[in-house]
Amino acid sequence: MPKLNENYLNLKESYLFSEIAHRTAAYAEKNPEKGAQIIRLGIGDVTRPLGKIVLNALHEGVDAMASSETFKGYGPEQGYEATRNAITAYYKKNGVEVEPDAVFVSDGAKSDTGNITDMFGHDNVILIPDPVYPVYVDTNIMCGNQVTYIAGNAGNNFLPMPDADQPADIIYLCSPNNPTGACYNKKQLKEWVDYALANDAIILFDSAYEAFISDPELPRSIFAVEGAKKCAIEFCSLSKTAGFTGTRCGYTIVPKELKFLSSAGTEMSLNAMWNRRQCTKFNGASYIVQKGAEAVFSEEGIKECQENIQYYKNNAKVIADTLTKLNIRFFGGINSPYIWFQCPNGMDSWTCFDYLLENIQVVGTPGAGFGENGVNFFRLTSFGNYEKTVEAMERFTKLFG
Ligand SMILES: *Cc1c(COP(=O)(O)O)cnc(C)c1O
Repeated sequence: MPKLNENYLNLKESYLFSEIAHRTAAYAEKNPEKGAQIIRLGIGDVTRPLGKIVLNALHEGVDAMASSETFKGYGPEQGYEATRNAITAYYKKNGVEVEPDAVFVSDGAKSDTGNITDMFGHDNVILIPDPVYPVYVDTNIMCGNQVTYIAGNAGNNFLPMPDADQPADIIYLCSPNNPTGACYNKKQLKEWVDYALANDAIILFDSAYEAFISDPELPRSIFAVEGAKKCAIEFCSLSKTAGFTGTRCGYTIVPKELKFLSSAGTEMSLNAMWNRRQCTKFNGASYIVQKGAEAVFSEEGIKECQENIQYYKNNAKVIADTLTKLNIRFFGGINSPYIWFQCPNGMDSWTCFDYLLENIQVVGTPGAGFGENGVNFFRLTSFGNYEKTVEAMERFTKLFG
């Protein structure tokens, strides 16, 4: 009989999205007329179609497969040179220098943020913010690692900062944050970088929402902070940037400066290790998709993607303006597609879910699903339709006004 990875027994069952679906369906069945009025502001997935420039590039990629002269078989595991160069050019436009061979193209940031545990041992002190994207915690539990939570709360604007007395080896940060929408400024990120350098720790930085940052003062990459190349890996994705949740493409930047000593004193390069890991376990992202990705980072492509992002950000503004008027405290919504509000009247997040569903037929995501510090908060997303978002906020105004 195979011995199984019993760490899986330690995973908490994720009831979040199934429970939301269950409660919503039960309500709609009992109240068919009102059920038909339900507006969903809970989705964490994009809804706008891909733009023309990206679509043309994807079509070109498909056409290349049609003739033996242009056909592509296995590509480089790290990604095609043109795609890697397009990514470094995009960084350069945002004022950040990265080397093309520090860039590893993949099928998305979820796999990379999960697979990264392959490079680390099992007795590290791992700091993970709470609330946050659940992948970091679950992938560490799967390999038997202990996790130390760092609390995000209203007191620190959901931006936990380093504690000099807390030792750490590995630190996960997500900025702009899912689910809170909170975004670190450069000074705050510098504090994290300085803390990591002082502790010989590494920061695993998830910048999946960087394209939603419109404040030029806010860093879109951790590598905008001096010293970060010695202590940070960055994960990013085209999912929210370019609507690639279904098309699938992401990238991870592992600087060559990132080196640590083995227990026997041998210098180990994380860039070389990740390269080895990818070459062994991954055969590269699809050529077709990488053609699309390259187009995303062209000047025209960036413009095209920004049109969709502006559409979502306009929805976020509608939500933020309404909550402001109603005096409901919230975070995010400006440099992020997410609005994280404090449940009115002291409700906990599941009570708030039922209250909104029953009274105004608006569905969102209870904060409890993202960690202990989310129990009195609620996430709304701007990934829906504009008219529906406006309608949902009119209903909020009637209910809470
Ligand atoms: C959506 C999201 C991602 C992107 O994952 P993909 O696998 O690239 O679709 C990564 N990190 C966070 C925090 C996200 O919310």
